[in-house]
Amino acid sequence: MKAELVMIGTELLLGQTVDTNAAFLAQQLAALGIDLYYKSTVGDNWIRILEVMTQALSRSDLVIASGGLGPTLDDLTREAVSAVANRPLELNNEAMEMIEAYFRKANRTMSENNRRQAYFPSGAQIIANHWGTAPGMIVTIQDKAIIALPGVPRELQGMFAAHVAPYLSQRITAKKTLVSRTLKFTGIGESQLAELVHDELVNQSNPTIAPYASLGEVKLRLTAKADSLEQALELIRPVEKRLIERLTPYYYGADQETLESAVGSILRKRRETLAVAESCTGGLIASRITDVSGSSDYFECGYTTYSNRAKTELLGVDPDLIERFGAVSSEVAAALAEGARARSGADWSLAVTGIAGPAGGTKEKPVGLVHMAVASKGNTKARQFYFNGTRTEIKYLTSQAALNLLRQEIMQSEQFQD
Ligand code: AMP
Ligand code: MG
Repeated sequence: MKAELVMIGTELLLGQTVDTNAAFLAQQLAALGIDLYYKSTVGDNWIRILEVMTQALSRSDLVIASGGLGPTLDDLTREAVSAVANRPLELNNEAMEMIEAYFRKANRTMSENNRRQAYFPSGAQIIANHWGTAPGMIVTIQDKAIIALPGVPRELQGMFAAHVAPYLSQRITAKKTLVSRTLKFTGIGESQLAELVHDELVNQSNPTIAPYASLGEVKLRLTAKADSLEQALELIRPVEKRLIERLTPYYYGADQETLESAVGSILRKRRETLAVAESCTGGLIASRITDVSGSSDYFECGYTTYSNRAKTELLGVDPDLIERFGAVSSEVAAALAEGARARSGADWSLAVTGIAGPAGGTKEKPVGLVHMAVASKGNTKARQFYFNGTRTEIKYLTSQAALNLLRQEIMQSEQFQD
């Protein structure tokens, strides 16, 4: 069954309301194993709603519409469905009773225009709305169906769960479920990652593999279609394994895992602790680490050493070193990391120093230059990065690269132990 969404409401086109209903409906359809091929958004305009609905019905088996079922004159979904289905609008007694009952229960007087909400195309199956005044409808046209639900998210969600999902499960003859798993990578760009697994991307079928990128990370979403959750996961597992093997240095976790929770899990497993020394990130790394519940198990402390004086007084960085190489240098990054480790007594330390901009860059040290270092017992590793973006983006990218450098250093030390 091919489904299509028609989201109705001028507020959606103006960007005043975020279309959460589409996300909700898309997730629900995926869970039911129903393919969703198109989604349109249209304003409260009769001609355009009719246009979109007609097209939707011509190419899809199931059209789910959201919005436009209210009592006012700009609520036109009932009229549009009536026209597309070629069924006249008539007063639906069942709907009328539901609306009257809603007002009685809410102890409110019904206004005359609420009667509009009881007019439905003839033969429509009414969907009860226990959360508001507007009933929904299912109109079948030969082997196709249009389902219309009100736009208020609470109402739409309640009605979908109570009535639409059961209706759809019954309609689906060959029941399938769609299961997705998202693998997360960092330290690599989207196109570079796609090149490394080019053959997998070209030969994908079930599961499908979709790459997508966000700030400082790339994701691969694996989606399998099968008869059950277990079978879908079984299809996903070998592909996931192959992808991770090919992309090990960049892979840090799946689904709900974050880079900071992944680093935390490794430290907890090793019963080791961490301290951070931050200059250009101003505490962001410590903040991300402590976003993870239970981080007190491994997070010792953070030093936000922004000024040169703080670097020297709090972490013992030699003023001569800062004078000679500058605060943004691999030498100072290493000294910060070693100072943080020595003063905190933590097993690992991570330090960053850089130029977040937009001011403060020079030809030799441009905005986006960041030095970072990881120190552990008897070993300090420094690395240099250049990031592009706004101040906020550079700070975030720095925190991402730093957490990943720490992750990679810990993993490497593990290899040497084995
Ligand atoms: P309607 O059923 O068109 O009268 O919509 C009622 C209210 O629901 C609107 O005023 C919006 O605040 C909200 N709404 C409508 N469509 C959506 C949508 N697609 N996603 C989230 N909220 C919506
Ligand atoms: Mg509306």
